[in-house]
Amino acid sequence: MFSPQVISSFEQQETPFYYYDLGLLQQTLNACKQAADRFGFKVHYALKANFNEPILEAIANAGFGADCVSGNEVAKALGVGFSAKDVVFAGVGKSDREISSALKQDIFCFNVESVEELGIINDLAQKQNKIARIAIRINPNVDAKTHQYITTGLEENKFGINTWELNDCIQVLKSSENIQLIGIHFHVGSQVKDLDVFKSLCLRVNEFNNWFAARGFNLQVLNVGGGLGVDYYQPDQHAIVDFESYFQVFDQFLEKKRGQEVHFELGRSLVASCGSLISRVLYIKKGLKKNFMILDAGMTELMRPALYQAYHRIENLTSNSSIVKYDVVGPICESTDSFGKEVELPESNRGDLIAIRTAGAYGEVMASRYNLREPVRAVYKND
Ligand SMILES: *Cc1c(COP(=O)(O)O)cnc(C)c1O
Repeated sequence: MFSPQVISSFEQQETPFYYYDLGLLQQTLNACKQAADRFGFKVHYALKANFNEPILEAIANAGFGADCVSGNEVAKALGVGFSAKDVVFAGVGKSDREISSALKQDIFCFNVESVEELGIINDLAQKQNKIARIAIRINPNVDAKTHQYITTGLEENKFGINTWELNDCIQVLKSSENIQLIGIHFHVGSQVKDLDVFKSLCLRVNEFNNWFAARGFNLQVLNVGGGLGVDYYQPDQHAIVDFESYFQVFDQFLEKKRGQEVHFELGRSLVASCGSLISRVLYIKKGLKKNFMILDAGMTELMRPALYQAYHRIENLTSNSSIVKYDVVGPICESTDSFGKEVELPESNRGDLIAIRTAGAYGEVMASRYNLREPVRAVYKND
């Protein structure tokens, strides 16, 4: 994955830093866009996965819409060139200020997550003399079969409106003149590897689609969210996700009604592979049973392992000695500041360059200043 030239360019850099291969990003975007176009699907990129400007610009230029979960993300999306008609805004806790400013920008759609929020958006739209387009985010009660910390589509999760509240929604919609229901929205969770989960989702979407049709609603949009998983174990063999098979499931199992559009919100599968966290070995600490490899990057730069026990492949870019096992840890004063236990790596020394792979999604965006760490830098490769 890393050519000798790239590795020697790393030697000049102060570590840690995020490295983004914009060529690989472009290939990934092209693959996704082509597959989506073939089925007539529209994809919004979930900004929360990575909001670095060069990455957002590439995604906007490739013809994707934007899926935002805060007012600042909406502003950022518009600022880098996504057009308002391609922006959707989700989130369980949108503040009045965030809703008002998104209304002012005339975004495409609010994905509404509670009955109470419907009334608030109606009131705020009325103040601006506008009609807000909304989709109801329905909790489909479909098990994403992913890590419990990144499951969102079960009744026990905080997201979306539960099925028994849909009648209340209809009551509110009937008495609210400043909101217009244009669609239904779903998102079952993240890092979903089993495509059968999406088949189950489709079958649920069909039920709700019929439910609304039976009550006289002409829905324009079926938004099925994101969640498509990537291969963290074999980043080079499977650098680009099989978008074709993913979209195929929806093409096969979703029953669109006349004129209905199908929208997606992909984050991870578009940006995870193109990013790596590059670090140096600070110290090797040999124990009785364990060897610790202490890096100059920690949970402050990449929190996923500490936050949800996520796996990232770790590679030594500058040693090919015989294999030893290390617990690979960061410098932060927390026991969960660990990137992996018993990781098989070539015998390593102070100063070796280490790559933590598939870190482009939910990596840099979650960086923190804890321990008063330096803000993490980003380096881009353009071809
Ligand atoms: C996070 C999120 C996404 C993107 O999820 P990925 O797993 O990164 O594809 C899509 N929709 C909503 C509502 C989200 O919160």
